[in-house]
Amino acid sequence: MSAPAPRPYRSYVYAYPHKTAYRPLTGRPELAALWAGEPKDALSLYAHIPFCEVRCGFCNLFTRVGAPDELTTRYLDALDRQATAVREALGDRDPVRFATAAFGGGTPTFLTAAELERLCDIAEKRMGVDLRAVPLSVETSPATATADRLALLADRGATRLSIGVQSFVEAEARAAVRPQRRADVEAALGRIRDTGVPVLNIDLIYGIDGQTERSWRVSLDAALAWRPEELYLYPLYVRPLTGLGRIKDPAAADRAWDEQRLRLYRYGRDHLVAHGYEQVSMRMFRRADAGPAGPDDYACQTDGMIGLGCGARSYTSALHYSFDYAVDMREVRSIIDVYTETEDFSRAEHGYGMTGPEARRRHLLQSLLQAEGMPVAGYEERFGSSPFADFGPDLARFEGYGWLDADAPSGLLRLSPEGLAHSDGLGPELFSAAVRAAMAAYEAK
Ligand code: SF4
Repeated sequence: MSAPAPRPYRSYVYAYPHKTAYRPLTGRPELAALWAGEPKDALSLYAHIPFCEVRCGFCNLFTRVGAPDELTTRYLDALDRQATAVREALGDRDPVRFATAAFGGGTPTFLTAAELERLCDIAEKRMGVDLRAVPLSVETSPATATADRLALLADRGATRLSIGVQSFVEAEARAAVRPQRRADVEAALGRIRDTGVPVLNIDLIYGIDGQTERSWRVSLDAALAWRPEELYLYPLYVRPLTGLGRIKDPAAADRAWDEQRLRLYRYGRDHLVAHGYEQVSMRMFRRADAGPAGPDDYACQTDGMIGLGCGARSYTSALHYSFDYAVDMREVRSIIDVYTETEDFSRAEHGYGMTGPEARRRHLLQSLLQAEGMPVAGYEERFGSSPFADFGPDLARFEGYGWLDADAPSGLLRLSPEGLAHSDGLGPELFSAAVRAAMAAYEAK
């Protein structure tokens, strides 16, 4: 008999390896050397704005609440210095071109309209991104999606606005997320639609204390009423203290919560599919008649990423790097302070080397977690070996759990619906021993 399948909700693998595996880089390599041999004709730019107006109950992103003493100005000053240094490091020997851009966080629209204008200027004038010619995605929140900010972003070329609503049910928003009035959320969505920006994405969360299929449907239907081009359904990751917290045995409480989340996931997935959405990954759904509008959440071609800001990662083919990482509020603040005081941005500080085997893992992970699956030939062409030879025991185990689609066309490695439902259990199964050890050592800090 095969071993029981791992728990369905272990971690969201949106990038491999996780930043908790990064370490200070010996010799702080120069960016110019790191980028010297890299293709630079289709780069992605990501600018990270680590500020929010409130801290959501479930959030483990790199962000802080508020920005006292003109911190946003100092942050943008540092971002400007970093952009100048990075662009210089990219050099002019090869053509440098950006194919996509995104502002994320935190909440980029925590910045005022004038500050957002400056951010766009940095992307264009320092980095050379033609924002009106490439897909530009910006994250926002109900309270900060004001008409002046949205108009500025639309004018500068935003093609996608993504808003974290989480729940349209006020009691649920209060319980697990952040207090917000539904009328305010609806008004923000109206302002976003008024901009005419082509893609609206709405984030929703399931697994909130007391959430049922019926209340989940209220949120799903409220979101669907806006006909968003994209919807992300996220499982909640911070166990509610009330409700489930009353179950004394923690293992039983976890099991009950897993069951609730799986139930709500399936309900949400079926509801969206019945309303004309295609499933792109466990979390992402796209309106079938909307057409693709930018990179998917697990886009494979994520080498060639330039991250600006203290929480952003950058990827070359051989190295993933960033600044120091934290979630604890005090540490986040001190990392932001160090960033704003930095003058020399010409070197990589923290990172993880992408050796051959790690690059294979990353490719397998990021393609397998997409609903459309992984063409085996693409893997073989890129790495000169077969995924079955490289990951035989893992794939056999997944098959034993019923996670692989036995009816996938030949040459396609694809998850079954249950495999997709267990994406957050499957992903960590593919972490290398070295990445696991580095992550465990970080957690223990
Ligand atoms: S708005 Fe987003 S980044 Fe900010 S605290 Fe909430 S979930 Fe985290």
